[in-house]
Amino acid sequence: MREQNEQRSTTNEQRLLTNKPESKFTTFDSNTLFFSQTSLPLSKANKSQQQMKQEVHILLGCADARDLNQVQIDTTREFIKKYKEKGIHIEMRVIRIAGSFASREAINDIKRTIEINQRETYGNFDKTEYYIHIQTHGHLDDQSNKDYISHIYEMNIVPGSPLNCGMLEAASVGIEIEQMLLEERPLVETPRGVFRVDTDEDIQRLLKDVYAHEGYLAGDWIRSIDKLRTHPRLQKSVLEQVIRTDPAMSRLNIKITAGIQDYSIHGLIRLDNGVPKAPFWDDVQREIRKRSEKKKGDLSMQSQKQKPLAGLVSLSDPQLSSRSLAAQYYFDLKGLENNGAYLANTVFNISGSGFDLPYAPFGPYANAGFFYGVAHLNLTDQMVMGYDEEQTERMIKKISKDPIMALTVKKYNVNLIPINQKTLLEKYDRVAEEAAEVF
Ligand SMILES: [Zn+2]
Repeated sequence: MREQNEQRSTTNEQRLLTNKPESKFTTFDSNTLFFSQTSLPLSKANKSQQQMKQEVHILLGCADARDLNQVQIDTTREFIKKYKEKGIHIEMRVIRIAGSFASREAINDIKRTIEINQRETYGNFDKTEYYIHIQTHGHLDDQSNKDYISHIYEMNIVPGSPLNCGMLEAASVGIEIEQMLLEERPLVETPRGVFRVDTDEDIQRLLKDVYAHEGYLAGDWIRSIDKLRTHPRLQKSVLEQVIRTDPAMSRLNIKITAGIQDYSIHGLIRLDNGVPKAPFWDDVQREIRKRSEKKKGDLSMQSQKQKPLAGLVSLSDPQLSSRSLAAQYYFDLKGLENNGAYLANTVFNISGSGFDLPYAPFGPYANAGFFYGVAHLNLTDQMVMGYDEEQTERMIKKISKDPIMALTVKKYNVNLIPINQKTLLEKYDRVAEEAAEVF
């Protein structure tokens, strides 16, 4: 069974690769922000590209609906273009996990992303560098030093601010999930047998047999953010340690930054003293801050309490699913008027590169984030978005096979809305590279 599943995963990954809209990305002109040489055999690789350096930037960000705004998207796109002219090809990936935890699910995602990139772009570039940006969000008080590079002792978080990450209370969400399990008493099927969740021990059995976690759920499998200021640094250390001891990653050039995004100033603050240097990322973030100053009115939604209209479960590759397309679809579906606000702010988004592996369960923070969106933000409409119909189907299957997520769907009458990038691109007459949000 297990072997079969593994085999299936590989096939899925391959399918995921071949699902890419290759023909659209093999051109390499100045108007194309994204390109991929997936379909080109090595011998045909573009000469000029071979002399280019590649940088893969992976953002580990929060599911929060406010975690993305139009200034960020526009600025990042422009800098991708500028860097291309300098001979540096930038790829962006985003993993959205409630609370931006470097949990096992996030680590697997990062690893998978790096592996896929190695397979896809082998021989295409002179050199590849990987950057992982761990980013939390919180509201700093007026006395805080909000310089781009700042130190945590010079900062203070406004207690209880709605701009702080909701996952400061993640363990409470965990307690609510435990309560749901004990009240709803779901029947769980595992390779080691079928049982009903009735007691605390059953919850532990569920965690062990399905999620490969030994221990308790609340406060253990799902932990709260301890301190917003130290959280991204801690996640950075966790990741660094994993990379150091993993032979598949230790030889790669991987750099990790840690930052906190303050929605009240629409700016990122690096909490790692600016080490390691990340020129592309730093240029983009500094520029976003500068532009946001002038655009405060347009960005007001980012500094308000998050009030998303729907949830979105998607993939971390912006070529395969896009938050803005999903938001556009949702507005049309509900006949809502777009008042000019940035649509993506209306969506609470969890994403991962393995979200289409139907028999692998979701991790703790995907589950906590999904539950939080449904139970606390009342997002009973949840869009599920893969690249095409098949991929979306596998994602829906994964939700139905994950006992906690399936129970959340059942208990709260969640309406899973299957959508796919391919159909929406056609519907809105857009090409992927325009629709892609960069991050
Ligand atoms: Zn958050």
